[in-house]
Amino acid sequence: MDEISGILHSKLKEFFGYDAFKGDQEDSIKSLIAGNDVFVLMPTGGGKSLCYQLPALVLEGTAIVISPLIALMKNQVDAIRGFVSGNEGIAHFLNSSLNKAQIQAVRNDLLSGVTKLLYVAPESLTKEDNIALLKEVRISFYAVDEAHCISEWGHDFRPEYRRILPLINEIGKAPVIALTATATPKVQSDILKTLGIQDAKVFKSSFNRPNLYYEIRDKVEPEKDIIRFIKQNPGKSGIIYCLSRKKVEELASLLAINGIKALPYHAGLDAKTRSENQDRFLMEDVDVIVATIAFGMGIDKPDVRFVIHYDMPKSIEEYYQETGRAGRDGEEGLCITYYSYKDIQKLEKFMQGKPVAEQEIGRQLLNETVAYAESNQCRRKLLLKYFGEDYLPDNCASCDNCINPKPTFDGQKEMGLVLRLVDTLQENFKIEHLAHILKGTVNSMTKTYKHDALPLFGAGKDHDEKFWATVIHQGIILRLLYKEIDTYGLIHITPEGKDFLDHPHPVKLVEDRVFSNSYGSDDDDEEDAEASKAALKGGGGGDPALLSMLKDLRKDMSRKLKLQPWIIFGDPALDDMSILYPISIEELRNCQGVGEGKARKFGKEFVDLIRKYVEENDIERPEDFVVKSAPTKSANKVYIIQSIDRQMSLEDIAEARGIDMGDLLTEIEAIVASGTRLNLDYYIRQEVDDDVVDEIYDYFKTEASSDSLDNALKDLGGDYEEMEIRLVRIKFLCEVAN
Ligand code: ADP
Ligand code: MG
Repeated sequence: MDEISGILHSKLKEFFGYDAFKGDQEDSIKSLIAGNDVFVLMPTGGGKSLCYQLPALVLEGTAIVISPLIALMKNQVDAIRGFVSGNEGIAHFLNSSLNKAQIQAVRNDLLSGVTKLLYVAPESLTKEDNIALLKEVRISFYAVDEAHCISEWGHDFRPEYRRILPLINEIGKAPVIALTATATPKVQSDILKTLGIQDAKVFKSSFNRPNLYYEIRDKVEPEKDIIRFIKQNPGKSGIIYCLSRKKVEELASLLAINGIKALPYHAGLDAKTRSENQDRFLMEDVDVIVATIAFGMGIDKPDVRFVIHYDMPKSIEEYYQETGRAGRDGEEGLCITYYSYKDIQKLEKFMQGKPVAEQEIGRQLLNETVAYAESNQCRRKLLLKYFGEDYLPDNCASCDNCINPKPTFDGQKEMGLVLRLVDTLQENFKIEHLAHILKGTVNSMTKTYKHDALPLFGAGKDHDEKFWATVIHQGIILRLLYKEIDTYGLIHITPEGKDFLDHPHPVKLVEDRVFSNSYGSDDDDEEDAEASKAALKGGGGGDPALLSMLKDLRKDMSRKLKLQPWIIFGDPALDDMSILYPISIEELRNCQGVGEGKARKFGKEFVDLIRKYVEENDIERPEDFVVKSAPTKSANKVYIIQSIDRQMSLEDIAEARGIDMGDLLTEIEAIVASGTRLNLDYYIRQEVDDDVVDEIYDYFKTEASSDSLDNALKDLGGDYEEMEIRLVRIKFLCEVAN
């Protein structure tokens, strides 16, 4: 060990209590001490801070540390004061939160040479007073932490960072050490150029985080999935990232309602609440923090066990940074992201108002993110590739694609067909329309454009539109096609695509992309809801053996009670039972469509059967797993229930709430559907003929195949008023079915 190494090791032990340096720490510190400009690329948790803290303590003079987040400076300074006890002045920060007296104290310590580290926000560095002060100080070096903030290609661009070089020149030259965990070649060259340190010694560590597990999940019922996940991982610390503040608030309260210790964190909260919530997370008073990206930079909680992205981040760097906050101690770190193409379309729409150059950058970053999410390759390999690193093993055994490979097929023929179509059309069209042409669907669009006369019309009729949409989509990812944002998603062929037509070659396509919502371009929310309902039906994820036993039981009971099966419990209720395994009447009520009355009337046999099944098969029940929704605070509903209790006429209720009778009935139906029983007899007796009541009632009891209002109106509409049918149906549901 040379002399410098000896000194550094003893200081490492003395100040920080560590026995050895990690990764490139020692080499980069030596290089800085030798007077070089230094560029340190290390993943989050790699130990970048030490690369400037230790040399600052060793060298003559004061190190200026430029760091973007005012909120974190105090923590950092406190941490150093903790290392070097008995010397408060050793580290200071300078930002807009200080008062006059505090600034004076900082001045004194700086000028007397006590201070080894001064943290400044870039905007404070521009202040005349501060510049004048720093000109009088002997500066050991400048450290630019989170240096990717300099680059528009980074995930957290801060224009003030661009002013750093001129300021350094004004204050006085000294070596510069720039540090970041963002390592794309573009960001890297931007940093070096903008800081004027092209000759810097570069220390780049591997960005592989072997202890992290990466998974992308289809975004169907993410809330439920997240609650299930957390309940299966009790007591573990985790961060959930959402794009909007609104979602952060909603999700945090939903988790809290479901018995999970969770708090929100976003820039819209006042500073006090924010730092309280952050502290409670760090102190493990709460397990989960639901946050926008405002949370986490520089947060040093080593045992975060999972990072969930409720929304896909806007770039791979951002994804890498945020997932990087899991498992900093080298232990378990589960990174789960919910992906829906619809979210990407939303992000694209947000971009439309921005300057063209910014849009261009944003779109490219987003495309890369989509490609990552939809890929069937090893996620670790893809991530590292993005940072210019080759990950050699074939299977990392710690990402969804390596553990559960997706089936692929050779799509040379199919891709060729798509490209030929896009190439031959005179104008550009959206994915949806192209898929219709290939499938051979006649609709107003295909007719208007006479596309039903094209030679390629129906050329791919063996597959459905969804299949073609996914092929087109994968064509975009492979850069054979290009999708415009400005024109709401028109598809062009790229030079690479033309080249493919001239020289076709095999392409591996994912056979069955499981991701929902990928088809079509600007579907509205209604379709959204439909899609997720459909997905729910398809893959409830329940226990099939139990489900069929429950159905048998329902059949038996329906014979015994002479009631139709749906009156006892609907299919969604049985599905839920096969997922939630309720073993008490109380728990049973948490299944869809099971109100108090129904649970008491029909529930016993069902929970008995489930309890027996659970015991016999040693089933581990999802620990109290029940998603409770936030209570609806509809004033209308409460008023309606109370008024019906007092036997007020429905006309009066409607008038009092300023709604019409139709809307009132809709509200009442919703109340009843959620399991509350209402007694409308006082009103029905007055308004509807007794015989009519009997006949309609009988229809529901013996003929109807479900409680569907639409079917009832169809079946009975010729003979009775809609109002009559609806009223009697409500009566029936309350008396028999609920
Ligand atoms: P980064 O800024 O690169 O994300 P930090 O500087 O916050 O990382 O350090 C991450 C963690 O590693 C911290 O808990 C820090 O105390 C710890 N650490 C840093 N250097 C060493 C070392 N040489 N030995 C052990 N732990 C270290
Ligand atoms: Mg750091």
